[in-house]
Amino acid sequence: GAASSGGLVAYADSKSDDVLDKPQGPPKKKVVVLGTGWGGTTFLRNLDSKLYDVQVISPRNYFAFTPLLPSVTCGTVEPRSVVEPIRRILEKKGGDIKFWEAECFKIDSANKKIHCRSNIGTNLDGNGEFLVDYDYLVIAVGARSNTFNTPGVEENCHFLKEVEDAQKIRRSVMDCFERASLPYLNEEERKKNLHFVVVGGGPTGVEFAAELHDFVTEDLSKLYPSIQHLVKISLIEAADHILTMFDKRITEFAEDKFGRDGIDVKTGYKVVKVAKDAITMQNPATGDIAVPYGMAVWSTGIGTRPFISEFMKQIGQGNRRVLATDEWLRVLECDSVYAVGDCATINQRRVMDDIAEIFRVTDKDNSGTLTVKEIQDVLDDIYVRYPQVELYLKSRQMNGIADLVRTAKGDAEKESVELNIEEFKKALSLVDSQVKHLPATAQVASQQGQYLARCFNKMKDAEENPEGPIRIRGEGRHRFRPFRYRHLGQFAPLGGEQTAAQLPGDWISIGHSTQWLWYSVYATKQISWRTRALVISDWSRRFIFGRDSSC
Ligand code: FAD
Ligand code: MG
Ligand code: MG
Ligand code: MG
Ligand code: MG
Repeated sequence: GAASSGGLVAYADSKSDDVLDKPQGPPKKKVVVLGTGWGGTTFLRNLDSKLYDVQVISPRNYFAFTPLLPSVTCGTVEPRSVVEPIRRILEKKGGDIKFWEAECFKIDSANKKIHCRSNIGTNLDGNGEFLVDYDYLVIAVGARSNTFNTPGVEENCHFLKEVEDAQKIRRSVMDCFERASLPYLNEEERKKNLHFVVVGGGPTGVEFAAELHDFVTEDLSKLYPSIQHLVKISLIEAADHILTMFDKRITEFAEDKFGRDGIDVKTGYKVVKVAKDAITMQNPATGDIAVPYGMAVWSTGIGTRPFISEFMKQIGQGNRRVLATDEWLRVLECDSVYAVGDCATINQRRVMDDIAEIFRVTDKDNSGTLTVKEIQDVLDDIYVRYPQVELYLKSRQMNGIADLVRTAKGDAEKESVELNIEEFKKALSLVDSQVKHLPATAQVASQQGQYLARCFNKMKDAEENPEGPIRIRGEGRHRFRPFRYRHLGQFAPLGGEQTAAQLPGDWISIGHSTQWLWYSVYATKQISWRTRALVISDWSRRFIFGRDSSC
């Protein structure tokens, strides 16, 4: 009747409005983002979503604040305080970004399609699979835990990667205490159940060991007074020291503190097998030793996801370990595909590979030699394109390029020096030693996500006004400056309200005040006011009432 025809009119009206409002032009390009972790979420938050037709695909419909996962393992922070629903993040942006809760299992870059599978529902074929087209693909799927094919790890160890992992660990710690309290166990069996083993002395393993130690001494010792003296925490590391990515002073402090706390730090031991009730480790001096344990957490590094390895083979990167991009985060040898975060690595171009080209571009007057002035003229471009040059000069305390030129020529000639190609090569022969791989951190992933969003936002502009350095190979300019990582420092929480921090410029700070810095940095970095409020209230609750041991 009247109601339905009214609806029809309204529909037709809105449709014609739509047509009138629409700017005449080609349809928006389709951007597909894989992953809702640090890289993907930061990209989405910074993307001008009006410019594109955006679709997000991830098996996880939330973002997880991973730096607080170790705190979730012992109930210092609740699981829901470290996650933010992706739909809430997308809704805040206002645009109509689509989200599909599914996993990508194949990238078909030849046809610009990705194959996805939902594991919460099936389609008419009964398999939950679907195809998505893209114009641009942003891969931000992170990495998987790496067992290095050590037997028994998959079956018997916990990982600490996802929120579910942290919850399982929490449950398992409590189970060990309850099991060790049962009336029919002998002392030996109680000890075994209360032996907690952490494999991997990196930041995550160390933080978990510290967190567990605090949980045991501050909270569980009161609830399990008769067995608390049987608890043992071991931290196993194959290298000679723990926290090797940090300054020596932090490593030493951490090893000393763990020693005083009674955490058994076993450096130089490699775990070779994990059975149901014993972990076998190896050391050249002692040979194999098998140690009974109650619970083990495996935290020794990351590897490439199988579907990414498949994709790498498909595009001719099969001989690499990690998906490689150029400095603009474009996947090498693959059109319109970008990758950020833990799933990828930047293949920084070497100066020595391009040295003849660099020489040619620099030698403006084609004299066959370079003056200091000629080099100076293109130096900014060289610094942007090859950041290792600037790092090298800094590391040698050289005062700009003139110093380098003089060093290459020897001290005799001080005035108006010119370099030929051989001398230029010699002068720059060591700069590539400063090329470093970026660490697999949230800091890197989020800076990359932000950078890439900025490029996408300016894609049109930059075609007319390129901002990048002169192209060394071929003519013209790059449209964008390459990605440049800014290291803001790194924390290592060590338990007992003490944290170590290594800030830029080798500024080291360790202790209780650094723990407060840690609290304030991580409160600030929260993705929303909601999670910020939850995290701060979790911390306060813990200070007043201790950690919750029921779960
Ligand atoms: P992730 O954040 O792992 O995101 C990957 C996303 O891809 C997820 O949403 C996942 O569900 C999704 N995905 C997976 N497979 C598929 C698929 N097939 N299709 C579609 N989507 C898929 N870094 C720091 O800088 N500071 C810290 O203090 C710190 N602490 C950490 C503590 C722990 C316990 C852990 C595990 C990591 C920590 N990190 C820290 C490292 C940091 O979390 C990672 O470097 C960061 O998460 C990498 O971001 P990403 O976007 O590459 O991957
Ligand atoms: Mg991501
Ligand atoms: Mg994440
Ligand atoms: Mg990376
Ligand atoms: Mg010249």
